[in-house]
Amino acid sequence: MLRVLARYHRARIIHHQRIPFGLWHDVCQRVDVLRRLTAPERARLRLLTTLFLHEKRINGVQGLVLNREMEVIIAAQACVLILNLGPNQFDGWVEVVVYPDAFRVPLGALYGHGLDDNGLVDEGEQTLDGESWQHGPVILSWASIEQELASEGRGRNLILHEFSHKLDMLNGRANGFPPLHPEMDLQRWSRVLNQAFIRLQEQVFHDEPGCIDDYAATNPAEFFAVISEYFFMSPSVLQHYCAEVYEQLCAYYRQDPLSRYAVLPAVTQ
Ligand SMILES: [Zn+2]
Repeated sequence: MLRVLARYHRARIIHHQRIPFGLWHDVCQRVDVLRRLTAPERARLRLLTTLFLHEKRINGVQGLVLNREMEVIIAAQACVLILNLGPNQFDGWVEVVVYPDAFRVPLGALYGHGLDDNGLVDEGEQTLDGESWQHGPVILSWASIEQELASEGRGRNLILHEFSHKLDMLNGRANGFPPLHPEMDLQRWSRVLNQAFIRLQEQVFHDEPGCIDDYAATNPAEFFAVISEYFFMSPSVLQHYCAEVYEQLCAYYRQDPLSRYAVLPAVTQ
């Protein structure tokens, strides 16, 4: 019954609060990953983005004032991840915090308890462009988002990165193993991604030139987030790097971004 009510409530929001067409069209033209979608995909994304904007709070901090276009740019790219997964994938948290620029956090906050590997209090700081908290907010730097819009990302996308961590956290701490669909083979996912991660770590260790950003070798959680960025932003690079990884992400996201790169459609919706 509750599920029926929730569906009815969401249907009313979509009907009454849909993002105005002109604003939606402008954002789709401005954002590379949205331009690539087919017209039916963009129409579906508009509904998901409408729900996202209703159910989440996107707050600028340190004097950053977000206008509606900035909010749609963030929400729409986040929703690309769940285009074929549904809005429930982002349940369980509400806040997106946007800093004007990169922000500093204590290292202790990053690793949970304020302790380093030796059990000592870690008082250092790190500068970040983005961060995702389990059951908490997603934190982003607007300067990084704008920079990626201008350069069309070149394979990287902060919003896709941070929100893919949120999907990874649906079954516990981020570990590169999000809840898979019933039709997927868990052992195959684990084998394919582990092998690719270890191969990348070896390439980085031996300083071999690779096509995937070294940051993916940090740990399995970052590997999943970075390959998710490539999957949507530069799918041919990821497929060239490891076709099996690309196939696993197609099965997980239920999308095949490479197919969109054959013909670049005009934005009409
Ligand atoms: Zn990350």
